[in-house]
Parts: sequence; C-alpha cells; structure tokens
Amino acid sequence: MTKKVQKQATDLDPSAMSIDAARNKIFALLPDFDETETLATASSRGRIAADTIVAPNPVPAFRNSAMDGYAFKHEDQLTTLKIIDKSLAGHPSRNQLTSGECVRITTGARLPDDADTVVQQENVSVSEQNLVIEKLPEKGFHVRQIGSDLNAGASLITSGTHLSPASLAVLTSHGISSISVKKKLKVAVFSTGDELVDAKPNVNAAQIIDANRCLLSNMLSNEHTDVFDLGIVADNLESLATKFNEAASSADIVLSSGGASVGDADYIKTVLEEHGKMHMWKVAMKPGRPLVFGLLQSNTPYFGLPGNPVSAAVTCLQFVKPSIRYMLGQAQAQLPHLSATLLSDTKKLPGRTEFQRGVLSIDEKGTCSVDSTGVQDSHMISSLQHANCFIELDSDSDGAKAGEQVNVLPFSLFSDLPVL
Ligand code: AMP
Ligand code: MG
Repeated sequence: MTKKVQKQATDLDPSAMSIDAARNKIFALLPDFDETETLATASSRGRIAADTIVAPNPVPAFRNSAMDGYAFKHEDQLTTLKIIDKSLAGHPSRNQLTSGECVRITTGARLPDDADTVVQQENVSVSEQNLVIEKLPEKGFHVRQIGSDLNAGASLITSGTHLSPASLAVLTSHGISSISVKKKLKVAVFSTGDELVDAKPNVNAAQIIDANRCLLSNMLSNEHTDVFDLGIVADNLESLATKFNEAASSADIVLSSGGASVGDADYIKTVLEEHGKMHMWKVAMKPGRPLVFGLLQSNTPYFGLPGNPVSAAVTCLQFVKPSIRYMLGQAQAQLPHLSATLLSDTKKLPGRTEFQRGVLSIDEKGTCSVDSTGVQDSHMISSLQHANCFIELDSDSDGAKAGEQVNVLPFSLFSDLPVL
C-alpha cells in the first residue's frame, strides 16, 4: 500500500516581499518633500513643523505665585506680619519689603523682588492689616520660578513634529505667533475598471459602483494632505497612460485601485513600465498581495492598490499612509501592537501576514479581547465598517485558537489628529 504524503498547504509566493522589507524599500525611494508655508500658530493643528524652534525667552517670565495667599521674606522667620500692599494677576505690588512686611498675592501675580515664599490663605488668620501665619512654610513654597516651565534656549519643537494642541500652546506661550510648516501633500486618487461607475440608484447588470475612491480619499484626507479625485479610468493602455501623466504633473503622491494583478484587464504594471518605473508589485500579506509601487514622471511616487475594497483599505493603511508621513518628515515609528485574547478559532495558510478584521473590546478590569467580524472576503466593505481593529496573524502561522493571545492593531492607531 502506498503511503500518502500529506503536503502542508501554503500560501507562500517566493516572489512576494515581506511587509517590512516592502515598506523600507518604498521609503528609500520616496522623494524629499521640502515645500513649506507660514501659518498662524493657532491654526496649525495637525500640520508638520518645518523648523526646530528653541525658546526665545523663559516661561514663566517672572516669579509668580502658585496660590492665593501672602508673599513674604522667609529669612525673617516671623509668623506675625504686616500687610503693606497687594499683588493681583496683571497688577503687581511694590517690589520692596522690609523685615516684618508681606503683600496679599493672588495666583499668577508677580512676586515682589524682596519676597521668596508664599503662604496660602487657608493657613493664616488676618485681622485688618495684620497677618498671623499658623505654620511657617518652607522657603520658596508656592513660588513659580522663572523658566520653571521652559527656560530660554530649551527645545520647543523639532522639525517634523506633528503639531498637537499642546505644542501649539507651548509655542504661543513663548510669544511665537506664526510658524513654518510643511505644505499639504497633494494626493491624487483614481479608480480603474471598465465595470466601475459613480454612485447611482440603479446600475446595469455588469456595473459595480466605485466605492474605493470614496473610501481611500476619506482615509487619507486630513490636516496635512489635500486629496483630489481623478475619477474612474477604463481598462485600456491609452487611458491609463494619460491618467498617469495627468496625475504625475498635479500631485505629490498618486494612488489608484484595481488593475494591479495579473488578470486579462490588469494593465497597471505594463503602463507603469512604459511611463515611469515599477519597483515592486507583490507583498506577502493578505489581503493585498498585488501591490504595485513605482515612480511616475518627475519621480512622483505611485501606489497601485488592489481593487477589492478591503485589500485597498489594508494596503492604504500599511503603505500609503506611512509613506505620506515619511515624506512629510515624520519619524516613522512602527505602530505598537496591543495584545488581546482571541474569542474564537481562526485559520489561515502559512506564507503571508494576515490582517483580519476584528472587534476589540476592553472589559472593566482592562482586559482586552478580540473577535473576528466573521467571513473575511476582501470584497466585503461591511467587514471594515463593523470592525475597530485588525487581528494581525504572523506569516508563518496557520491561525490561532480561542484563548490565545493575538496581536491587534486598533484602527485608532492610524488616526491622524493629535488629541492633546
Ligand atoms: P481588480 O483588482 O481590478 O482585479 O479588482 C478586483 C475586484 O475589486 C473586482 O471585483 C472589482 O470589480 C472590484 N473593484 C475594483 N475597483 C473597485 C472600486 N473602485 N470599488 C469597488 N470595487 C472595486
Ligand atoms: Mg479590474
């Protein structure tokens, strides 16, 4: 009897690059983007700083009180003092105190030059102009020193900083009311496919409504991009060539979806070879193996994403978004994973890193668990809508069992707007 050798099924394609290798290759080919503009600091949230800025002056600029209370000279060691003046925020008192004198002071008000300590008002008793301190505070108490937030010469932001509300407030507090930021990156998006039509209530039997332009444009539009729509292109060499040239002359980065595989109507690679240079077209990931990257005329980076909407979304997050950040000069940190307990078994073939759509939840003890959204077909846009994370399964693995810890990428990690 012949023994049947069970060959393990695999999804391995030796010509496909790993995700990390592909991303590094793309980054190395991206052109520099040096265009800058000057904006009001307060209107620069989400933009990328073009310069490194150091503090021109200290903040706070003068010693002031952290409390409502009374400012006095600690060296007097007196608990009975005479109130000789008041220092209110914006209305400083006189600067000279003699032994046994103090001033009434409010939070943020300037400390008299001769005072060094504040006793808070809850710890004193006052009768007319006489103050009795119940317990002498330590020297320097409740005094905000000059430069105690940031001193002159301290770094406020470095070039490439993603400007958050807090960064803008730091700059503003140092009197910097306008700053140089990277211009918005112009991103052109188009779709390819003879079957595609713009949204309308009734389509004929062979037509598919183009969902990808809507999906990708909205995924990429944010404070540091200007996304524009170059429509739908038919599956033929001439139309694609015209679109490539139009896109290259108007955008800093171009992406399309569809036509990137090896089907009869997949012309992207051919046209890219003729009108630019193709550098890559397969990545060992699922969904999203057919991913084209190349340079169009004038070295404009071009991504040819797969047509299936889920594949287009995953490749956009894994490659296009990081590339936009890279071109804008933001240090490209690897996205951190969360670890979560898988709630039901999931299978895959070894050979590709898989990004399954998942629903991540965190219970009241802070424990994370994740479940798949169910069927993972890459045409199912609804699986993106109902998910809040990717479950990332290693290339070598053949799946994971319920109860195992798996890597999870919450969609919020890809969000573009700094919160604070
Ligand atoms: P392709 O990558 O061109 O072979 O397309 C793969 C699948 O995705 C096909 O079923 C296409 O009809 C579909 N598809 C391609 N582009 C889009 C799009 N823009 N919106 C929705 N589905 C699309
Ligand atoms: Mg197609």
